[in-house]
Amino acid sequence: AAKQSGRNQYAFFSPRMNQQLQQRIEVLQGVHTALEQGQFYLDYQPILDLADGRIRGAEALLRWQHPERGLIPPGQFIPTIEDSDLIGPVTEWVARQAVQDLLLLQQQQPGFAVSINISGAALHQKTTRDFLIKLKQSQRVPDNGLHVELTETSMMRHLDDCRQTLQQWKETGINIWVDDFGTGYSSLSYLHQLPIDGLKIDRSFVRELKPGSNSSLVATIMTLADMMQLKVVTEGIETRDQRDCITRLGPCFGQGFGLYRPMSLAALQALLEREPSAPDDTPTRPQP
Ligand code: C2E
Ligand code: MG
Ligand code: MG
Ligand code: MG
Repeated sequence: AAKQSGRNQYAFFSPRMNQQLQQRIEVLQGVHTALEQGQFYLDYQPILDLADGRIRGAEALLRWQHPERGLIPPGQFIPTIEDSDLIGPVTEWVARQAVQDLLLLQQQQPGFAVSINISGAALHQKTTRDFLIKLKQSQRVPDNGLHVELTETSMMRHLDDCRQTLQQWKETGINIWVDDFGTGYSSLSYLHQLPIDGLKIDRSFVRELKPGSNSSLVATIMTLADMMQLKVVTEGIETRDQRDCITRLGPCFGQGFGLYRPMSLAALQALLEREPSAPDDTPTRPQP
């Protein structure tokens, strides 16, 4: 491309590539600054047990409050930092903050769980892997309190790294979820090879639900999960109809704008304050 452009033999990049590169550099520098200057924070989206409607946990979602550009959602910077040295420090920042918040939330509701998202790229970084284990142990996080979500695609891409890391996390008492389940190319056999606790059904399947029908992909995945003794969170529940439809299919957890939107830690604490407390041993299925 440099030769064909003709004008300048030193121009290795076309104008478009140049612009992309510049944007990338801006994001990387920006994230570096964000870590240094405390521009990141976490929102929490509650996860409910649909059988009794109670909040059992929340997913931590990363937010970047940029001084000039305002609020930047994770989709606009996580993919850029995934193949850079910054994914490690960002993941560790999220984990540290989430654990701090988790311990507060557990004072309000014992058994409360907080999920964090882990990029496949972070699995490659030994420091990040070990960091999570040390964090869990040094902060005395109760078992099953800290959950990690990995997308199906990143698990498949990093299967070898994944197996060992997930095994170690699992042994430490961290729970493991497959995020955006159903959107990847996975064969089911990999599920057996990994110490997975549950599946988060991608919201695209919820959108396709038809009231009164049992023949949805959500139903199929729930049957599969039941056979494999995996828990299920259905993501992206936006309407009452969707919620009712899913609740009828079987026991599962739910998350979505129609239940609760992502909110600040303070808002979540206020919400739990108003909720009747749910003892951890409350059965989630009605007794016969
Ligand atoms: P995700 O892990 O699948 O998280 C759920 C996303 O769906 C969130 O978007 C959430 O706000 C959105 N959502 C929840 N309920 C609904 C609904 O009913 N309808 C619709 N349309 N959307 C809903 P968000 O916060 O923009 O995050 C997007 C993605 O960014 C996440 O998808 C996750 O893959 C990634 N992400 C977020 N925080 C982190 C993080 O700390 N680390 C890493 N590596 N990735 C993160
Ligand atoms: Mg997630
Ligand atoms: Mg998801
Ligand atoms: Mg997603």
